Amino acid sequence: MRKAERFQRFLEYFTTHFPEPETELAYGNPYELIVAVVLSAQCTDKRVNLITPELFRQFPTPAHLAAATAEDIFPFIRSVSYPNNKAKHLAGLGRLLVEEFNAEVPSSLEELQRLPGVGRKTANVVMSVIYNQPAMAVDTHVFRVSHRLGLVPKTAKTPLAVEKELVRYIPESLIPKAHHWLILHGRYICVARQPKCSICPLTNICAYYARQVAPLVKNIPSLPAEENGLPSA
Ligand code: SF4
Repeated sequence: MRKAERFQRFLEYFTTHFPEPETELAYGNPYELIVAVVLSAQCTDKRVNLITPELFRQFPTPAHLAAATAEDIFPFIRSVSYPNNKAKHLAGLGRLLVEEFNAEVPSSLEELQRLPGVGRKTANVVMSVIYNQPAMAVDTHVFRVSHRLGLVPKTAKTPLAVEKELVRYIPESLIPKAHHWLILHGRYICVARQPKCSICPLTNICAYYARQVAPLVKNIPSLPAEENGLPSA
C-alpha cells in the first residue's frame, strides 16, 4: 500500500469514528495544562489527574508557583515519577512565566522550550491543545503506533524524524486531532507489549499486522468441528 493511501485511510477512519478527540489530562486553563504536561513525562495521565486538583488548589496561578520552592511543591507531586526533578522544574517554570512572560503561557515553540521541564514534545502539546496549531507532539505512543502502522519509515529513529514525517502527510487542520488519535490508539489498543490486533479496526492498513500477525493467523490450522464448538457440517 502506498504511504499516502495509508495516511488517507487512517485519517478517514478516525475522522468518521472519533471526530473530536481530547487530551485525557484534566486542566482548566493554559497554565494548568502546561503544569500537567510537565508532570506527565514518564508518567500516566491518570496518575497526574489524581494529584493536580490539590496542586492547583495550592498553586492556582504562575505567581503562586513562582513564590514557591521545589521543597514546597514536592509533597504535592511526590507520587508522580521523578518528583524531585519535576518540583525543581515547576518552581523554575513559575518564575520564568512571571518574570518574562507576564504570567501567561507563551504561544511559540521557541519561547515554550525556554521554560524549565518543557522540551519539544511538551511545547508541541501546548501549541496543539491550547493554541490549536499544527504541532505534532511525538511521545512513546505516537512513535510506536506510527511505526507499526507504517506511517513512517524505519529510518525515522528519533521523535523529531517521526514528527517531520507525520506533519508532511497529515493536513494541517487535522494534525492536532491526529496527535490524540495516535496517542489514544497506542494507549488502549496498539499497546506496547502485545498490541490488541484482534480488536483493532486498522488491520487492513497496518504494516506490522501484514508482516507479523496475518501470516500466523493464516497458518493456524482449523480445529475439527467438535473442538471449535461449531456443529459438524
Ligand atoms: S493491527 Fe495491531 S499492530 Fe497494527 S495498529 Fe492495530 S493493534 Fe497496532
